[in-house]
Amino acid sequence: MKVFKFGGASVKDSYAVRNLAKILNNYKDEDIVVVISAMDKITNALEDLLDSKMLKHENVEKKADQITAFHQEIINDLFPSDHPIHKEIGGLLSDLRTLASRKPDFHYDREYDQLVSFGEILSTRIIHEYLLQENITSTWLDARNVIKTDNTWRAARVDMMQSEYLISSVWESKGNRRQQLITQGFIGSDDRKRTTTLGREGSDFTAAVFAYALQAEEVVTWKDVPGLFNADPKRFERARQIKHISFRETIELSYYGAKIIHPNTIKPLQNKNIPLKVKSFLNPEDEGSVINHDTSYDGNMESYIIKSNQVLISMLSRDYEFITENSLSFIFAKFASYNMKINLMQNSAITFTACVDRDDEKIASLILDLRDRYHIRYNEELELLTIRNFNENIIGQLTKNKEILVEQRSRTTVQFVMKPEGIAE
Ligand code: ASP
Ligand code: MG
Repeated sequence: MKVFKFGGASVKDSYAVRNLAKILNNYKDEDIVVVISAMDKITNALEDLLDSKMLKHENVEKKADQITAFHQEIINDLFPSDHPIHKEIGGLLSDLRTLASRKPDFHYDREYDQLVSFGEILSTRIIHEYLLQENITSTWLDARNVIKTDNTWRAARVDMMQSEYLISSVWESKGNRRQQLITQGFIGSDDRKRTTTLGREGSDFTAAVFAYALQAEEVVTWKDVPGLFNADPKRFERARQIKHISFRETIELSYYGAKIIHPNTIKPLQNKNIPLKVKSFLNPEDEGSVINHDTSYDGNMESYIIKSNQVLISMLSRDYEFITENSLSFIFAKFASYNMKINLMQNSAITFTACVDRDDEKIASLILDLRDRYHIRYNEELELLTIRNFNENIIGQLTKNKEILVEQRSRTTVQFVMKPEGIAE
Protein backbone atom coordinates (compact mmCIF):
# COMPACT_ATOMS: atom_id res chain seq x y z
CA MET A 1 0.00 0.00 0.00
CA LYS A 2 0.96 3.63 -0.45
CA VAL A 3 0.36 6.82 1.48
CA PHE A 4 -0.36 10.04 -0.42
CA LYS A 5 -0.24 13.45 1.13
CA PHE A 6 -1.97 16.45 -0.42
CA GLY A 7 -1.13 19.83 1.12
CA GLY A 8 -3.20 23.02 1.08
CA ALA A 9 -1.97 24.18 -2.35
CA SER A 10 -3.04 20.91 -3.94
CA VAL A 11 -6.63 21.43 -2.77
CA LYS A 12 -6.83 25.18 -3.06
CA ASP A 13 -9.97 25.41 -5.21
CA SER A 14 -12.51 23.33 -7.10
CA TYR A 15 -10.14 22.91 -10.03
CA ALA A 16 -7.50 21.46 -7.71
CA VAL A 17 -10.02 19.05 -6.17
CA ARG A 18 -10.94 17.81 -9.67
CA ASN A 19 -7.25 17.35 -10.39
CA LEU A 20 -6.77 15.38 -7.17
CA ALA A 21 -9.64 13.08 -8.18
CA LYS A 22 -7.96 12.52 -11.56
CA ILE A 23 -4.73 11.52 -9.84
CA LEU A 24 -6.53 9.11 -7.50
CA ASN A 25 -8.43 7.68 -10.42
CA ASN A 26 -5.10 6.50 -11.86
CA TYR A 27 -4.53 4.49 -8.69
CA LYS A 28 -8.00 2.97 -8.51
CA ASP A 29 -6.63 -0.54 -8.19
CA GLU A 30 -4.27 0.20 -5.34
CA ASP A 31 -4.57 0.43 -1.59
CA ILE A 32 -3.97 4.03 -0.62
CA VAL A 33 -4.26 6.17 2.47
CA VAL A 34 -4.81 9.76 1.38
CA VAL A 35 -3.82 12.37 3.96
CA ILE A 36 -5.18 15.82 3.21
CA SER A 37 -4.58 19.30 4.68
CA ALA A 38 -6.98 22.20 5.01
CA MET A 39 -7.75 23.91 1.70
CA ASP A 40 -5.45 26.66 0.52
CA LYS A 41 -4.71 29.18 3.31
CA ILE A 42 -7.62 28.15 5.52
CA THR A 43 -5.36 27.24 8.46
CA ASN A 44 -4.05 30.82 8.43
CA ALA A 45 -7.60 32.17 8.18
CA LEU A 46 -8.67 30.08 11.18
CA GLU A 47 -5.66 31.26 13.17
CA ASP A 48 -6.62 34.80 12.31
CA LEU A 49 -10.19 34.19 13.43
CA LEU A 50 -8.95 32.78 16.71
CA ASP A 51 -6.72 35.82 17.29
CA SER A 52 -9.66 38.13 16.74
CA LYS A 53 -11.60 36.21 19.34
CA MET A 54 -8.98 35.49 21.97
CA LEU A 55 -6.49 38.34 21.73
CA LYS A 56 -8.16 41.28 20.05
CA HIS A 57 -11.67 40.64 21.35
CA GLU A 58 -13.08 41.68 18.01
CA ASN A 59 -16.25 40.55 16.37
CA VAL A 60 -15.46 37.35 14.48
CA GLU A 61 -18.47 37.45 12.13
CA LYS A 62 -16.68 38.89 9.13
CA LYS A 63 -13.85 36.37 9.29
CA ALA A 64 -16.27 33.49 9.77
CA ASP A 65 -18.22 34.77 6.75
CA GLN A 66 -15.09 34.64 4.60
CA ILE A 67 -14.27 31.08 5.62
CA THR A 68 -17.89 30.08 4.96
CA ALA A 69 -17.96 31.76 1.54
CA PHE A 70 -14.67 30.11 0.54
CA HIS A 71 -15.96 26.60 1.18
CA GLN A 72 -19.40 27.29 -0.23
CA GLU A 73 -17.98 28.52 -3.49
CA ILE A 74 -16.04 25.28 -3.87
CA ILE A 75 -18.99 23.01 -3.15
CA ASN A 76 -21.26 25.06 -5.40
CA ASP A 77 -18.76 24.42 -8.16
CA LEU A 78 -18.32 20.72 -7.51
CA PHE A 79 -21.81 19.50 -6.67
CA PRO A 80 -25.39 19.92 -7.94
CA SER A 81 -27.50 22.20 -5.76
CA ASP A 82 -29.60 19.38 -4.29
CA HIS A 83 -26.57 17.37 -3.11
CA PRO A 84 -26.61 16.52 0.63
CA ILE A 85 -23.05 17.91 0.98
CA HIS A 86 -24.48 21.45 1.13
CA LYS A 87 -26.37 20.63 4.28
CA GLU A 88 -23.45 18.80 5.82
CA ILE A 89 -20.89 21.53 5.18
CA GLY A 90 -23.44 24.14 6.26
CA GLY A 91 -23.75 22.24 9.55
CA LEU A 92 -19.98 22.08 10.07
CA LEU A 93 -19.59 25.77 9.31
CA SER A 94 -22.32 26.66 11.78
CA ASP A 95 -20.60 24.50 14.44
CA LEU A 96 -17.45 26.47 13.69
CA ARG A 97 -19.34 29.75 14.17
CA THR A 98 -20.82 28.57 17.45
CA LEU A 99 -17.38 27.65 18.72
CA ALA A 100 -15.89 30.90 17.46
CA SER A 101 -18.50 33.05 19.17
CA ARG A 102 -18.60 31.08 22.40
CA LYS A 103 -17.15 32.91 25.36
CA PRO A 104 -13.44 32.02 25.55
CA ASP A 105 -13.42 29.97 28.70
CA PHE A 106 -10.13 28.16 28.48
CA HIS A 107 -6.66 28.74 27.34
CA TYR A 108 -5.46 29.83 23.95
CA ASP A 109 -3.59 26.75 22.73
CA ARG A 110 -6.37 24.35 23.65
CA GLU A 111 -8.96 26.57 21.99
CA TYR A 112 -6.66 26.74 18.95
CA ASP A 113 -6.77 23.00 18.45
CA GLN A 114 -10.55 22.81 18.73
CA LEU A 115 -11.06 25.58 16.20
CA VAL A 116 -8.21 25.29 13.70
CA SER A 117 -8.82 21.56 13.20
CA PHE A 118 -12.06 22.43 11.37
CA GLY A 119 -9.99 23.19 8.26
CA GLU A 120 -8.98 19.56 7.76
CA ILE A 121 -12.43 18.20 8.60
CA LEU A 122 -14.05 20.49 6.04
CA SER A 123 -11.55 19.71 3.29
CA THR A 124 -11.71 15.94 3.71
CA ARG A 125 -15.52 15.84 3.92
CA ILE A 126 -15.77 17.80 0.67
CA ILE A 127 -13.13 15.78 -1.14
CA HIS A 128 -14.47 12.44 0.00
CA GLU A 129 -17.97 13.30 -1.28
CA TYR A 130 -16.53 14.47 -4.55
CA LEU A 131 -14.62 11.21 -5.03
CA LEU A 132 -17.83 9.25 -4.45
CA GLN A 133 -19.57 11.41 -7.01
CA GLU A 134 -16.79 10.56 -9.47
CA ASN A 135 -17.20 6.84 -8.73
CA ILE A 136 -13.90 6.56 -6.90
CA THR A 137 -14.71 4.26 -4.01
CA SER A 138 -13.27 5.61 -0.81
CA THR A 139 -13.87 5.66 2.91
CA TRP A 140 -13.58 8.71 5.14
CA LEU A 141 -11.67 8.19 8.34
CA ASP A 142 -11.62 10.61 11.27
CA ALA A 143 -7.89 10.79 12.01
CA ARG A 144 -8.73 11.63 15.64
CA ASN A 145 -9.86 8.05 16.12
CA VAL A 146 -6.44 6.65 15.26
CA ILE A 147 -3.79 9.36 15.75
CA LYS A 148 -3.46 9.34 19.52
CA THR A 149 -1.42 12.07 21.18
CA ASP A 150 -0.61 13.65 24.50
CA ASN A 151 -2.23 16.99 25.25
CA THR A 152 0.56 19.37 24.37
CA TRP A 153 -1.87 21.65 22.54
CA ARG A 154 -0.64 22.89 19.15
CA ALA A 155 2.41 20.60 19.26
CA ALA A 156 0.95 17.30 20.37
CA ARG A 157 3.29 14.31 20.48
CA VAL A 158 2.03 11.20 18.78
CA ASP A 159 1.89 7.96 20.76
CA MET A 160 3.35 5.79 18.01
CA MET A 161 2.52 2.44 19.57
CA GLN A 162 -1.12 3.17 20.21
CA SER A 163 -1.58 4.90 16.87
CA GLU A 164 0.11 2.05 15.03
CA TYR A 165 -2.25 -0.41 16.68
CA LEU A 166 -5.38 1.63 15.93
CA ILE A 167 -4.40 2.39 12.33
CA SER A 168 -3.68 -1.22 11.52
CA SER A 169 -6.91 -2.36 13.21
CA VAL A 170 -8.95 0.01 11.03
CA TRP A 171 -7.05 -1.08 7.95
CA GLU A 172 -7.41 -4.79 8.62
CA SER A 173 -11.10 -4.47 9.41
CA LYS A 174 -11.60 -3.60 5.74
CA GLY A 175 -10.34 -7.04 4.71
CA ASN A 176 -8.86 -7.65 1.30
CA ARG A 177 -11.00 -5.16 -0.58
CA ARG A 178 -8.94 -2.57 -2.45
CA GLN A 179 -9.35 0.61 -0.56
CA GLN A 180 -8.70 4.30 -0.62
CA LEU A 181 -8.95 5.79 2.80
CA ILE A 182 -9.40 9.57 2.99
CA THR A 183 -8.21 11.18 6.21
CA GLN A 184 -6.93 14.42 7.72
CA GLY A 185 -3.38 15.50 8.28
CA PHE A 186 -2.33 17.62 11.26
CA ILE A 187 -4.99 16.51 13.76
CA GLY A 188 -5.28 13.84 16.44
CA SER A 189 -6.83 13.40 19.85
CA ASP A 190 -5.73 12.90 23.44
CA ASP A 191 -6.82 10.13 25.79
CA ARG A 192 -9.96 12.11 26.61
CA LYS A 193 -10.83 12.33 22.91
CA ARG A 194 -10.18 16.06 22.82
CA THR A 195 -8.87 17.30 19.47
CA THR A 196 -5.15 18.09 19.31
CA THR A 197 -2.93 19.39 16.48
CA LEU A 198 0.61 18.39 15.61
CA GLY A 199 2.12 21.77 14.74
CA ARG A 200 1.98 23.78 11.51
CA GLU A 201 2.76 21.75 8.41
CA GLY A 202 2.11 18.64 10.49
CA SER A 203 0.33 16.73 7.72
CA ASP A 204 3.61 15.37 6.41
CA PHE A 205 4.13 13.80 9.79
CA THR A 206 0.62 12.30 9.79
CA ALA A 207 1.42 10.68 6.44
CA ALA A 208 4.60 9.23 7.93
CA VAL A 209 2.70 7.81 10.92
CA PHE A 210 0.23 6.01 8.63
CA ALA A 211 3.08 4.72 6.48
CA TYR A 212 4.92 3.48 9.56
CA ALA A 213 1.84 1.74 10.95
CA LEU A 214 0.95 0.02 7.68
CA GLN A 215 4.52 -0.62 6.49
CA ALA A 216 3.74 1.29 3.30
CA GLU A 217 5.80 0.68 0.20
CA GLU A 218 6.15 4.47 -0.25
CA VAL A 219 4.84 7.88 0.72
CA VAL A 220 4.14 10.41 -2.02
CA THR A 221 3.71 14.08 -1.18
CA TRP A 222 2.07 15.93 -4.06
CA LYS A 223 3.28 19.50 -4.52
CA ASP A 224 3.02 22.43 -6.88
CA VAL A 225 6.73 22.07 -7.72
CA PRO A 226 8.32 19.21 -9.68
CA GLY A 227 10.24 17.88 -6.67
CA LEU A 228 13.01 18.88 -4.29
CA PHE A 229 15.50 21.60 -5.17
CA ASN A 230 19.06 22.38 -4.19
CA ALA A 231 17.96 25.93 -3.25
CA ASP A 232 14.68 27.78 -2.87
CA PRO A 233 13.46 28.06 -6.48
CA LYS A 234 11.41 31.13 -5.55
CA ARG A 235 14.61 32.90 -4.59
CA PHE A 236 17.22 31.54 -6.96
CA GLU A 237 16.55 31.26 -10.64
CA ARG A 238 19.32 28.75 -11.10
CA ALA A 239 17.99 26.33 -8.47
CA ARG A 240 18.11 22.78 -9.84
CA GLN A 241 16.04 19.74 -9.01
CA ILE A 242 17.50 17.04 -6.76
CA LYS A 243 16.41 13.63 -8.06
CA HIS A 244 17.75 11.50 -5.20
CA ILE A 245 18.71 12.36 -1.67
CA SER A 246 19.14 10.34 1.50
CA PHE A 247 17.13 10.58 4.72
CA ARG A 248 20.27 11.69 6.42
CA GLU A 249 21.05 14.54 4.06
CA THR A 250 17.39 15.65 4.19
CA ILE A 251 17.56 15.94 7.96
CA GLU A 252 20.79 17.93 7.67
CA LEU A 253 19.31 20.33 5.11
CA SER A 254 16.17 20.82 7.19
CA TYR A 255 18.36 21.57 10.17
CA TYR A 256 20.09 24.36 8.24
CA GLY A 257 16.69 25.81 7.38
CA ALA A 258 15.68 24.19 4.09
CA LYS A 259 11.89 23.93 3.94
CA ILE A 260 11.80 20.49 2.37
CA ILE A 261 9.52 18.64 4.65
CA HIS A 262 8.43 18.75 8.29
CA PRO A 263 11.63 17.52 10.01
CA ASN A 264 9.86 14.96 12.25
CA THR A 265 8.63 13.16 9.17
CA ILE A 266 11.91 11.47 8.35
CA LYS A 267 12.40 9.40 11.50
CA PRO A 268 9.42 7.01 11.16
CA LEU A 269 10.17 6.56 7.47
CA GLN A 270 13.86 5.97 8.04
CA ASN A 271 13.09 3.51 10.84
CA LYS A 272 11.02 1.33 8.53
CA ASN A 273 12.94 2.10 5.37
CA ILE A 274 9.97 3.62 3.53
CA PRO A 275 10.95 5.92 0.63
CA LEU A 276 9.38 9.37 0.37
CA LYS A 277 8.65 10.75 -3.09
CA VAL A 278 7.92 14.35 -3.88
CA LYS A 279 5.88 14.72 -7.05
CA SER A 280 4.08 17.46 -8.90
CA PHE A 281 0.30 17.32 -8.87
CA LEU A 282 0.42 19.39 -12.04
CA ASN A 283 2.52 16.80 -13.88
CA PRO A 284 1.77 13.54 -12.08
CA GLU A 285 3.58 11.50 -14.73
CA ASP A 286 6.92 13.13 -13.95
CA GLU A 287 9.30 11.21 -11.78
CA GLY A 288 9.79 13.82 -9.05
CA SER A 289 12.36 13.36 -6.30
CA VAL A 290 13.05 10.42 -4.01
CA ILE A 291 14.28 10.46 -0.42
CA ASN A 292 15.50 7.10 0.85
CA HIS A 293 18.38 5.25 2.51
CA ASP A 294 20.74 5.57 -0.42
CA THR A 295 23.47 8.11 0.35
CA SER A 296 25.37 7.59 -2.89
CA TYR A 297 23.83 10.64 -4.61
CA ASP A 298 24.27 13.05 -1.72
CA GLY A 299 27.59 14.57 -2.71
CA ASN A 300 26.64 15.11 -6.34
CA MET A 301 25.19 18.55 -6.14
CA GLU A 302 25.72 21.60 -3.97
CA SER A 303 22.75 22.84 -1.93
CA TYR A 304 22.40 26.29 -0.47
CA ILE A 305 20.12 27.65 2.14
CA ILE A 306 19.67 31.17 3.40
CA LYS A 307 18.19 31.99 6.78
CA SER A 308 17.25 35.66 7.06
CA ASN A 309 16.59 37.80 10.09
CA GLN A 310 19.58 36.51 12.01
CA VAL A 311 21.20 38.17 15.00
CA LEU A 312 24.84 37.69 15.91
CA ILE A 313 25.46 37.95 19.65
CA SER A 314 29.09 38.33 20.78
CA MET A 315 30.14 38.11 24.41
CA LEU A 316 33.46 39.23 25.78
CA SER A 317 34.35 37.98 29.22
CA ARG A 318 34.50 41.10 31.47
CA ASP A 319 37.25 39.95 33.78
CA TYR A 320 39.25 38.29 31.03
CA GLU A 321 38.31 34.89 32.33
CA PHE A 322 38.81 32.20 29.65
CA ILE A 323 35.82 30.70 27.88
CA THR A 324 36.04 27.25 29.44
CA GLU A 325 33.72 24.25 29.49
CA ASN A 326 32.26 25.72 32.68
CA SER A 327 31.51 29.10 31.21
CA LEU A 328 30.10 27.45 28.07
CA SER A 329 27.74 25.34 30.12
CA PHE A 330 26.61 28.50 31.96
CA ILE A 331 26.01 30.26 28.64
CA PHE A 332 24.21 27.28 27.05
CA ALA A 333 21.93 26.93 30.06
CA LYS A 334 20.83 30.54 29.52
CA PHE A 335 20.10 29.94 25.83
CA ALA A 336 18.24 26.74 26.70
CA SER A 337 16.15 28.47 29.36
CA TYR A 338 14.71 30.76 26.66
CA ASN A 339 14.40 27.91 24.17
CA MET A 340 16.75 29.75 21.82
CA LYS A 341 18.31 27.64 19.12
CA ILE A 342 21.89 28.51 18.23
CA ASN A 343 22.27 28.33 14.46
CA LEU A 344 26.04 28.76 14.49
CA MET A 345 28.63 29.41 17.18
CA GLN A 346 32.30 30.13 17.61
CA ASN A 347 34.62 30.93 20.47
CA SER A 348 38.09 32.30 21.10
CA ALA A 349 40.03 32.65 24.34
CA ILE A 350 37.72 35.20 25.90
CA THR A 351 34.84 35.61 23.45
CA PHE A 352 31.82 33.53 22.52
CA THR A 353 29.70 34.28 19.47
CA ALA A 354 26.30 32.81 18.58
CA CYS A 355 24.01 33.36 15.61
CA VAL A 356 20.29 33.04 16.43
CA ASP A 357 16.90 33.77 14.86
CA ARG A 358 15.66 37.25 15.69
CA ASP A 359 13.38 37.37 18.72
CA ASP A 360 13.71 40.75 20.40
CA GLU A 361 12.12 39.79 23.68
CA LYS A 362 14.19 36.67 24.24
CA ILE A 363 17.42 38.37 23.21
CA ALA A 364 16.77 41.26 25.61
CA SER A 365 16.20 38.83 28.50
CA LEU A 366 19.27 36.81 27.59
CA ILE A 367 21.44 39.89 27.55
CA LEU A 368 20.13 40.93 30.97
CA ASP A 369 21.07 37.50 32.32
CA LEU A 370 24.58 37.52 30.89
CA ARG A 371 25.71 41.09 31.15
CA ASP A 372 27.21 40.81 34.64
CA ARG A 373 29.80 38.38 33.35
CA TYR A 374 30.09 39.45 29.72
CA HIS A 375 30.31 42.58 27.73
CA ILE A 376 27.74 41.98 24.97
CA ARG A 377 27.46 43.32 21.45
CA TYR A 378 25.08 42.29 18.75
CA ASN A 379 24.41 42.79 15.05
CA GLU A 380 20.95 42.50 13.56
CA GLU A 381 19.45 41.92 10.15
CA LEU A 382 22.02 39.40 9.05
CA GLU A 383 21.78 36.35 6.84
CA LEU A 384 23.12 32.91 7.51
CA LEU A 385 24.16 31.19 4.31
CA THR A 386 24.85 27.45 4.43
CA ILE A 387 26.33 25.62 1.45
CA ARG A 388 26.58 21.83 1.47
CA ASN A 389 28.97 20.18 -0.97
CA PHE A 390 30.46 23.56 -1.72
CA ASN A 391 32.97 24.56 -4.34
CA GLU A 392 34.90 27.83 -4.55
CA ASN A 393 32.91 28.92 -7.55
CA ILE A 394 29.55 28.78 -5.80
CA ILE A 395 30.98 30.43 -2.69
CA GLY A 396 32.28 33.26 -4.86
CA GLN A 397 28.91 33.78 -6.49
CA LEU A 398 26.86 33.72 -3.31
CA THR A 399 29.10 35.92 -1.16
CA LYS A 400 30.02 38.45 -3.81
CA ASN A 401 29.92 42.00 -2.43
CA LYS A 402 28.71 40.80 0.94
CA GLU A 403 30.31 41.78 4.21
CA ILE A 404 31.12 38.55 6.04
CA LEU A 405 31.10 38.60 9.84
CA VAL A 406 31.75 34.92 10.56
CA GLU A 407 32.84 32.04 8.38
CA GLN A 408 32.98 28.37 9.29
CA ARG A 409 34.04 25.39 7.19
CA SER A 410 33.94 21.66 7.56
CA ARG A 411 34.67 19.06 4.89
CA THR A 412 31.13 19.19 3.45
CA THR A 413 29.64 22.39 4.75
CA VAL A 414 30.52 26.05 4.76
CA GLN A 415 28.53 28.73 6.58
CA PHE A 416 28.67 32.50 6.44
CA VAL A 417 27.02 35.05 8.65
CA MET A 418 26.81 38.13 6.47
CA LYS A 419 25.08 41.41 5.81
CA PRO A 420 22.44 40.94 3.13
CA GLU A 421 23.18 44.00 1.02
CA GLY A 422 26.48 44.68 -0.70
CA ILE A 423 28.91 47.04 1.01
CA ALA A 424 29.83 50.32 -0.57
CA GLU A 425 33.13 50.15 -2.38
N1 ASP B 1 -3.12 22.74 7.50
C1 ASP B 1 -2.01 22.70 8.40
C2 ASP B 1 -1.08 23.86 8.09
O1 ASP B 1 -1.31 24.58 7.15
C3 ASP B 1 -1.25 21.41 8.34
C4 ASP B 1 -0.52 21.14 7.04
O2 ASP B 1 -0.84 21.75 6.03
O3 ASP B 1 0.39 20.32 7.03
O4 ASP B 1 -0.14 24.06 8.81
MG1 MG C 1 -1.80 23.54 5.16
